[in-house]
Amino acid sequence: MGYLILIVLALLVIQFGSMRLEKFYIRVGIFPWLFRLMPNKPLAITLYPFILFRDKSAQKLLMDHEMRHIRQIRKKGVVVFYVKYLYFNIRYGYENNPLEIEARKHSGRGEK
Ligand SMILES: [Zn+2]
Repeated sequence: MGYLILIVLALLVIQFGSMRLEKFYIRVGIFPWLFRLMPNKPLAITLYPFILFRDKSAQKLLMDHEMRHIRQIRKKGVVVFYVKYLYFNIRYGYENNPLEIEARKHSGRGEK
């Protein structure tokens, strides 16, 4: 646990000292095992600065939603976003994760 806190602190230092990336990258159909491995079987995963879509139809459905996550990440910073995201997922569950609710609200179509 102590090491984990050190790693998070180190990442925060790196993050605040570095330039903000304006670009993001989209990959469709890459790492299919990653999608199968995850418990909620997602259609898309945002691993900043990459958005990974399981396939073309997932991209069509969830582009706006994942873009919202990109925007959230840029606003909060990469480390703060992912720490918060994980914490919210543990505390409220995926469906009620406030970051997911916000992304769903602004993306027209929700997930599923
Ligand atoms: Zn989402």
